[in-house]
Amino acid sequence: MSKYIITSTNPSETMELAKRLARLLKPQDVITLEGDLGAGKTTFTKGLAEGLHIKKTVNSPTFTIIKEYKGDLPLYHMDVYRLEGSDEDLGFDEYFEGDGVTVVEWAHLIEDQLPNDRLMIRLTHEAEDKRLITLEPNGNRYEELCKELGL
Ligand code: ADP
Ligand code: MG
Repeated sequence: MSKYIITSTNPSETMELAKRLARLLKPQDVITLEGDLGAGKTTFTKGLAEGLHIKKTVNSPTFTIIKEYKGDLPLYHMDVYRLEGSDEDLGFDEYFEGDGVTVVEWAHLIEDQLPNDRLMIRLTHEAEDKRLITLEPNGNRYEELCKELGL
């Protein structure tokens, strides 16, 4: 399995990568985001939203697990942090199989419910503004996507 590691030195660089990725996305694409609090998962998601020309501000919902935004494609933004320790199924499949693209923060907490094929992205906090962004494509679609990204 391939693995691509990119260094980001500020939030705009992280958003720029996400924006480039967003322009290549198709309905039913799934991106999972891992990384500690403050690693940049929501920042990355904001970049995806910009790339999809979503006008509303994407934020970290405190009580909402799933938010839907309208853009070039619908964006389903899941932050499943609050599901830790529960095996609640909120009907995620309907999103994965919907008309839009799904991005999941803290995805490992719903591991059992995730599609096998997906683009797994991990953000690691290296220094104040420095992050390592690791992309691991799972499945042909996502291998192709990473190639298109020119990584
Ligand atoms: P998470 O969703 O992983 O908890 P956020 O995206 O909400 O993280 O927060 C990341 C914070 O780190 C933001 O305040 C952002 O401005 C800051 N930051 C600093 N450098 C970077 C970088 N290179 N990439 C992403 N975020 C960064
Ligand atoms: Mg977040």
